[in-house]
Amino acid sequence: MMNDHRGIGMTSERTRTRLVRQLKEMGISNPLVLNAIQTVPRHLFVDEGLASRAYENTALPIGHGQTISQPYIVARMTELLLVGELGKVLEIGAGCGYQSAVLAQFAKQVYAVERIAPLALKLRERIQQLRYRNILVRHGDGMEGWPENGPFDAILVAAAPVTVPPKLLEQLKIGGRMVLPVGDRDHQVLLLITREGENSYKEQKLDAVSFVPMRSGVSKI
Ligand code: SAH
Repeated sequence: MMNDHRGIGMTSERTRTRLVRQLKEMGISNPLVLNAIQTVPRHLFVDEGLASRAYENTALPIGHGQTISQPYIVARMTELLLVGELGKVLEIGAGCGYQSAVLAQFAKQVYAVERIAPLALKLRERIQQLRYRNILVRHGDGMEGWPENGPFDAILVAAAPVTVPPKLLEQLKIGGRMVLPVGDRDHQVLLLITREGENSYKEQKLDAVSFVPMRSGVSKI
Protein backbone atom coordinates (compact mmCIF):
# COMPACT_ATOMS: atom_id res chain seq x y z
CA MET A 1 0.00 0.00 0.00
CA MET A 2 1.41 3.40 -1.00
CA ASN A 3 1.41 6.10 1.63
CA ASP A 4 2.05 9.81 1.28
CA HIS A 5 4.50 11.55 3.61
CA ARG A 6 1.88 11.79 6.33
CA GLY A 7 1.18 8.10 6.16
CA ILE A 8 -2.52 8.35 5.39
CA GLY A 9 -2.42 8.08 1.60
CA MET A 10 -4.87 5.28 0.85
CA THR A 11 -6.92 5.96 3.93
CA SER A 12 -7.36 9.53 2.87
CA GLU A 13 -8.51 8.48 -0.62
CA ARG A 14 -11.17 6.26 0.94
CA THR A 15 -12.19 8.80 3.56
CA ARG A 16 -12.40 11.53 0.91
CA THR A 17 -14.82 9.41 -1.09
CA ARG A 18 -16.88 8.86 2.04
CA LEU A 19 -16.93 12.61 2.69
CA VAL A 20 -18.12 13.29 -0.86
CA ARG A 21 -20.91 10.74 -0.39
CA GLN A 22 -21.98 12.47 2.83
CA LEU A 23 -22.05 15.87 1.11
CA LYS A 24 -24.20 14.44 -1.69
CA GLU A 25 -26.63 13.09 0.90
CA MET A 26 -26.73 16.55 2.49
CA GLY A 27 -27.79 18.08 -0.83
CA ILE A 28 -24.60 19.17 -2.59
CA SER A 29 -25.24 18.22 -6.20
CA ASN A 30 -22.85 20.17 -8.44
CA PRO A 31 -20.36 17.56 -9.74
CA LEU A 32 -17.65 20.22 -10.11
CA VAL A 33 -17.91 21.09 -6.43
CA LEU A 34 -17.93 17.42 -5.38
CA ASN A 35 -14.89 16.84 -7.55
CA ALA A 36 -13.07 19.75 -5.92
CA ILE A 37 -13.78 18.28 -2.47
CA GLN A 38 -12.43 14.94 -3.68
CA THR A 39 -9.32 16.61 -5.13
CA VAL A 40 -8.18 19.27 -2.66
CA PRO A 41 -6.02 17.68 0.07
CA ARG A 42 -7.72 19.01 3.23
CA HIS A 43 -5.28 17.03 5.38
CA LEU A 44 -2.48 19.34 4.23
CA PHE A 45 -4.34 22.41 5.53
CA VAL A 46 -4.54 21.31 9.18
CA ASP A 47 -1.87 20.47 11.77
CA GLU A 48 -0.33 17.06 11.43
CA GLY A 49 -1.98 15.91 14.65
CA LEU A 50 -5.41 16.49 13.10
CA ALA A 51 -4.64 15.17 9.60
CA SER A 52 -6.30 11.82 10.27
CA ARG A 53 -9.58 13.69 10.95
CA ALA A 54 -9.33 15.97 7.93
CA TYR A 55 -12.02 14.14 5.93
CA GLU A 56 -14.61 14.16 8.69
CA ASN A 57 -17.41 16.59 7.99
CA THR A 58 -16.46 18.85 10.91
CA ALA A 59 -14.74 22.13 11.63
CA LEU A 60 -11.28 21.69 13.20
CA PRO A 61 -9.04 24.12 15.12
CA ILE A 62 -6.35 25.98 13.14
CA GLY A 63 -4.92 28.02 16.05
CA HIS A 64 -5.51 31.63 17.18
CA GLY A 65 -9.04 30.65 18.26
CA GLN A 66 -10.09 30.06 14.63
CA THR A 67 -11.33 26.97 12.80
CA ILE A 68 -11.14 25.47 9.33
CA SER A 69 -14.75 25.50 8.11
CA GLN A 70 -16.80 22.31 7.92
CA PRO A 71 -16.47 20.73 4.43
CA TYR A 72 -20.25 20.89 3.98
CA ILE A 73 -20.33 24.67 4.38
CA VAL A 74 -17.31 25.09 2.09
CA ALA A 75 -19.12 23.04 -0.55
CA ARG A 76 -22.44 24.83 0.01
CA MET A 77 -20.97 28.33 -0.29
CA THR A 78 -18.91 27.34 -3.33
CA GLU A 79 -21.97 25.84 -5.01
CA LEU A 80 -23.94 29.06 -4.43
CA LEU A 81 -21.24 31.11 -6.15
CA LEU A 82 -20.50 28.74 -8.99
CA VAL A 83 -22.84 30.03 -11.64
CA GLY A 84 -21.15 30.47 -14.99
CA GLU A 85 -17.53 31.62 -15.30
CA LEU A 86 -15.73 32.75 -12.17
CA GLY A 87 -13.12 35.34 -13.01
CA LYS A 88 -12.03 37.18 -9.91
CA VAL A 89 -13.12 35.92 -6.51
CA LEU A 90 -12.59 37.77 -3.24
CA GLU A 91 -12.42 35.60 -0.15
CA ILE A 92 -12.59 37.19 3.31
CA GLY A 93 -11.38 35.19 6.32
CA ALA A 94 -9.13 32.79 4.45
CA GLY A 95 -7.78 31.14 7.63
CA CYS A 96 -5.81 28.05 6.65
CA GLY A 97 -6.59 28.42 2.95
CA TYR A 98 -8.69 25.32 2.34
CA GLN A 99 -11.65 27.30 1.00
CA SER A 100 -9.21 29.37 -1.09
CA ALA A 101 -7.87 26.18 -2.67
CA VAL A 102 -11.39 24.94 -3.42
CA LEU A 103 -12.26 28.27 -5.07
CA ALA A 104 -8.97 28.20 -6.99
CA GLN A 105 -10.24 25.12 -8.85
CA PHE A 106 -12.81 27.34 -10.59
CA ALA A 107 -11.69 30.95 -10.40
CA LYS A 108 -9.18 32.64 -12.65
CA GLN A 109 -7.84 34.44 -9.59
CA VAL A 110 -8.63 34.17 -5.89
CA TYR A 111 -7.89 37.18 -3.69
CA ALA A 112 -7.70 35.88 -0.12
CA VAL A 113 -7.78 38.27 2.86
CA GLU A 114 -6.97 37.24 6.45
CA ARG A 115 -6.72 39.62 9.42
CA ILE A 116 -4.51 37.49 11.71
CA ALA A 117 -0.87 37.94 10.64
CA PRO A 118 0.51 34.47 11.50
CA LEU A 119 -2.41 32.78 9.73
CA ALA A 120 -1.88 34.93 6.62
CA LEU A 121 1.84 34.11 6.66
CA LYS A 122 1.25 30.36 7.03
CA LEU A 123 -1.37 30.49 4.31
CA ARG A 124 1.04 32.19 1.91
CA GLU A 125 3.70 29.52 2.59
CA ARG A 126 1.23 26.69 2.17
CA ILE A 127 -0.16 27.81 -1.18
CA GLN A 128 3.39 28.20 -2.45
CA GLN A 129 4.31 24.70 -1.31
CA LEU A 130 1.18 23.24 -2.86
CA ARG A 131 1.75 25.33 -6.02
CA TYR A 132 -1.57 27.10 -6.24
CA ARG A 133 -0.64 29.84 -8.66
CA ASN A 134 -3.94 31.68 -8.75
CA ILE A 135 -4.30 32.61 -5.08
CA LEU A 136 -3.06 35.97 -3.84
CA VAL A 137 -2.96 36.54 -0.06
CA ARG A 138 -3.29 39.80 1.80
CA HIS A 139 -2.91 40.38 5.52
CA GLY A 140 -5.63 42.96 6.02
CA ASP A 141 -9.09 43.85 7.23
CA GLY A 142 -11.71 42.17 5.09
CA MET A 143 -14.26 44.84 6.03
CA GLU A 144 -12.38 46.98 3.51
CA GLY A 145 -12.41 44.33 0.77
CA TRP A 146 -9.54 44.64 -1.71
CA PRO A 147 -10.53 47.68 -3.80
CA GLU A 148 -7.39 47.73 -5.98
CA ASN A 149 -8.37 44.38 -7.47
CA GLY A 150 -12.15 44.78 -7.65
CA PRO A 151 -14.81 44.63 -8.79
CA PHE A 152 -15.24 40.90 -8.21
CA ASP A 153 -17.44 38.29 -9.89
CA ALA A 154 -17.94 36.64 -6.52
CA ILE A 155 -17.25 37.36 -2.87
CA LEU A 156 -17.20 34.72 -0.13
CA VAL A 157 -17.02 35.72 3.53
CA ALA A 158 -16.11 33.04 6.10
CA ALA A 159 -16.62 35.06 9.29
CA ALA A 160 -19.89 36.62 10.44
CA PRO A 161 -20.32 40.42 10.50
CA VAL A 162 -23.35 41.84 12.32
CA THR A 163 -24.48 43.61 9.15
CA VAL A 164 -23.33 43.34 5.52
CA PRO A 165 -20.09 45.37 5.08
CA PRO A 166 -20.91 48.19 2.61
CA LYS A 167 -17.47 48.15 0.99
CA LEU A 168 -17.96 44.54 -0.03
CA LEU A 169 -21.27 45.43 -1.68
CA GLU A 170 -19.48 48.20 -3.60
CA GLN A 171 -16.79 45.82 -4.83
CA LEU A 172 -19.22 43.30 -6.31
CA LYS A 173 -19.61 43.36 -10.11
CA ILE A 174 -23.07 43.93 -11.53
CA GLY A 175 -24.36 40.39 -11.97
CA GLY A 176 -21.95 39.19 -9.31
CA ARG A 177 -22.82 37.17 -6.21
CA MET A 178 -21.76 37.35 -2.61
CA VAL A 179 -22.32 34.69 0.01
CA LEU A 180 -21.84 35.49 3.69
CA PRO A 181 -23.07 34.69 7.18
CA VAL A 182 -24.63 37.63 9.01
CA GLY A 183 -25.62 37.91 12.65
CA ASP A 184 -24.37 37.74 16.22
CA ARG A 185 -22.66 34.81 17.91
CA ASP A 186 -25.92 32.94 18.56
CA HIS A 187 -28.03 33.67 15.48
CA GLN A 188 -26.54 33.80 12.03
CA VAL A 189 -28.09 33.32 8.64
CA LEU A 190 -26.33 32.60 5.38
CA LEU A 191 -27.15 35.32 2.85
CA LEU A 192 -26.83 35.16 -0.91
CA ILE A 193 -26.66 38.65 -2.38
CA THR A 194 -26.84 39.27 -6.11
CA ARG A 195 -25.97 42.69 -7.51
CA GLU A 196 -28.61 43.32 -10.14
CA GLY A 197 -27.70 46.89 -11.02
CA GLU A 198 -25.60 49.84 -9.91
CA ASN A 199 -27.83 50.40 -6.86
CA SER A 200 -29.90 47.26 -6.81
CA TYR A 201 -29.15 44.15 -4.80
CA LYS A 202 -31.25 41.03 -4.32
CA GLU A 203 -30.91 39.36 -0.93
CA GLN A 204 -31.86 35.74 -0.19
CA LYS A 205 -31.83 34.34 3.34
CA LEU A 206 -30.71 30.72 3.29
CA ASP A 207 -29.50 28.40 6.05
CA ALA A 208 -28.93 28.97 9.77
CA VAL A 209 -25.15 28.79 10.21
CA SER A 210 -22.44 29.19 12.84
CA PHE A 211 -19.24 31.07 11.98
CA VAL A 212 -16.64 32.88 14.07
CA PRO A 213 -17.36 36.63 14.29
CA MET A 214 -15.92 38.97 11.69
CA ARG A 215 -13.75 41.52 13.48
CA SER A 216 -12.60 44.94 12.32
CA GLY A 217 -8.96 45.87 12.01
CA VAL A 218 -5.95 43.59 11.68
CA SER A 219 -4.20 41.50 14.31
CA LYS A 220 -0.41 40.99 14.48
CA ILE A 221 -0.77 37.90 16.65
N1 SAH B 1 -12.26 29.47 5.36
C1 SAH B 1 -11.41 29.45 6.51
C2 SAH B 1 -12.23 29.84 7.72
C3 SAH B 1 -11.41 30.36 8.83
S1 SAH B 1 -12.36 30.93 10.21
C4 SAH B 1 -10.84 28.06 6.67
O1 SAH B 1 -11.51 27.12 6.27
O2 SAH B 1 -9.74 27.91 7.21
C5 SAH B 1 -12.65 32.61 9.76
C6 SAH B 1 -11.43 33.45 9.55
O3 SAH B 1 -11.89 34.80 9.35
C7 SAH B 1 -10.45 33.52 10.71
O4 SAH B 1 -9.20 33.10 10.28
C8 SAH B 1 -10.46 34.99 11.13
O5 SAH B 1 -9.20 35.44 11.55
C9 SAH B 1 -10.89 35.66 9.85
N2 SAH B 1 -11.45 37.00 9.97
C10 SAH B 1 -12.31 37.48 10.89
N3 SAH B 1 -12.58 38.79 10.67
C11 SAH B 1 -11.87 39.14 9.55
C12 SAH B 1 -11.71 40.36 8.81
N4 SAH B 1 -12.31 41.49 9.16
N5 SAH B 1 -10.89 40.33 7.74
C13 SAH B 1 -10.25 39.21 7.36
N6 SAH B 1 -10.35 38.04 8.01
C14 SAH B 1 -11.15 38.00 9.10
